[in-house]
Amino acid sequence: MEKKYEVLKRYYGYDTFREGQEELIDTLLAGEDAFGIMPTGAGKSLCYQIPALIFRGITLVISPLISLMKDQVAALNQAGVYAAYLNSSLTQGQYFKALEFAKTGKYKIIYVAPERLLTESFLSFALQADISFVAVDEVHCVSQWGQDFRPSYLKIVEFVKRLPKRPVLGAFTATATQAVKDDVIRILELKKPRVVTTGFDRKNLSFEVRTGKDKQSELLSILREHEGESGVIYCITRKLVEEVYELLTARGLSVTKYHAGLPDDERRDNQDDFIYDRKKLMVATNAFGMGIDKSDVRFVIHYNMPKNMESYYQEAGRAGRDGDEAECILLFSAQDVRTNQFFIENNRENEELSEVELLEVIDKDKERLRKMTNYCYTSDCLRGYMLSYFGEKTTGYCGNCSNCLKNYEETDVSKYARLILGCIEECREKFGMTVIIDTLRGSQSEKIQKYRLQHNSYYGAARDVSADRLKQIMKHLISEYYLAQTDDMYAVLKLTEHSYEITVKGEQVLMKLPKEKEIVQPRVSLKQVNRKLGGVRAASDNPMLYEELRRLRNETARRMGVPAYVVFTDKTLQEMSMYLPVTRDEMLSINGVAQAKYEKYGRDFMEMIAQYKEEHAREHKKPQAKARIKF
Ligand code: ADP
Ligand code: MG
Repeated sequence: MEKKYEVLKRYYGYDTFREGQEELIDTLLAGEDAFGIMPTGAGKSLCYQIPALIFRGITLVISPLISLMKDQVAALNQAGVYAAYLNSSLTQGQYFKALEFAKTGKYKIIYVAPERLLTESFLSFALQADISFVAVDEVHCVSQWGQDFRPSYLKIVEFVKRLPKRPVLGAFTATATQAVKDDVIRILELKKPRVVTTGFDRKNLSFEVRTGKDKQSELLSILREHEGESGVIYCITRKLVEEVYELLTARGLSVTKYHAGLPDDERRDNQDDFIYDRKKLMVATNAFGMGIDKSDVRFVIHYNMPKNMESYYQEAGRAGRDGDEAECILLFSAQDVRTNQFFIENNRENEELSEVELLEVIDKDKERLRKMTNYCYTSDCLRGYMLSYFGEKTTGYCGNCSNCLKNYEETDVSKYARLILGCIEECREKFGMTVIIDTLRGSQSEKIQKYRLQHNSYYGAARDVSADRLKQIMKHLISEYYLAQTDDMYAVLKLTEHSYEITVKGEQVLMKLPKEKEIVQPRVSLKQVNRKLGGVRAASDNPMLYEELRRLRNETARRMGVPAYVVFTDKTLQEMSMYLPVTRDEMLSINGVAQAKYEKYGRDFMEMIAQYKEEHAREHKKPQAKARIKF
């Protein structure tokens, strides 16, 4: 097997590369400079980590953020790679200790903050080390056109020039505007770099702008629709974070907060509470999120419009990293424009800037704010607007943003509401949405057979309506408290004290629905796209096992003191619960199970699965035996 595939499998547990990754890795391994422009979540880290593991010498990764370095190094260590970071979060002693180790060649990958590069201590190490490769992450920081200009990034080129042998250079960012691209190549003096840009479209995300007057009630109503799911709420100021946090706490919601005004340890604890699922909602300023790779965030709400499209794309992009559907909603008011303007004009944060640079940056920031504001006002496709901002061609209709879906019509759905509630009642409130929809639409799926739902008197009663529409109606019933959903993974549907108003009293149910022909088609194809991309359905085929595996994963993570997704992601567990691996080879064939992880945790998970299989085999026999007696 080719080396890069071996490394991919061994350290990350994946079988295939994603779009763009292979091209970048091949280029770097061939000793040529490369420039990867890929959206957040696309998998840029792997593009420099894999060459780093294959190159003979050391790789330096330059990265602007301490939290980001820490997480990546922790993940690498978990995967069995020797890596370290050098930044201001280390004490003097720790720093020199790490440098000592670095000198002995202990680390294959070293993350370093840009302002360290030209310090005497670091240089004395770098000049005598065998550095094969320098990867610059978040490379837009080198440009005034980037959303986060850092003059210390300008030192990189000088540092590289001081090295006895020029290493291969790799640059990575999620910002794809032409101005930034040009700056990166020019300022870093990349040598005929191979530039790889992958699509910015995140198909599993839906986009929405709301301009309602009352943001608080708008927010609460969104949260009702997402009960039990992980979500981030971004606010523009610390004060607003506190306000919204108070609002949600008062409602008894599972919520935490994050902003630069909180003490370090509180911030860290709160972040952990969110990552480890102890709290479902995170209310934060834009200080939160960089380097956080929680994959199951189901929605990102912007309580205020952010200052530019780059920030919006990046922050909203923290939703749905696992590839499952997720929502990005922006609550807009004209006041947001004024607040941002004020911030831009008074921004003195970046002390590294000269007066002239500062004025230029302000001008560019204002221009970008205008573009962001237009996003909130446009009646065109939001996805289209965003993609063309990043220089991509679009079709102008995505079918999955609030503008594309604006053609709503008031629809009487009483008939379907009664069928849904009736079916749930007859099933004795034992199932979730998918099973109920399958029953109503007369599906012949295995589950239907298994639970003998073809004998339910509502079986096939709603064949004339799409599954998506039934789901929309159910969600509406839930938001109006005619129906409830348990908050465990399987989300079983339950009737409420109000259900009878529809089933018995015959109350009419009206709701705003997008016109069928315009919504259903794209939604279906969206699912197909997800499936093609290897997306696994949210509900696993063996929900009980999935829950057990999650519990084991969470326990393991707690014991190891790492976030849950560092052990295995939900997606990996879903695959396990579908394919039921019980041997080493079967386990290693699961996406996300790498060699090191297999060795660390594989056995426990396999044991649990084997046990489940055994119990299940026994259970399976029972209904069959019954069936024989009956017929
Ligand atoms: P970026 O830096 O581009 O925002 P990351 O490098 O943090 O993205 O990767 C995002 C997620 O995608 C990580 O959880 C990573 O493990 C996963 N990932 C990266 N490459 C692959 C791949 N080839 N197959 C499956 N998952 C991948
Ligand atoms: Mg990254």
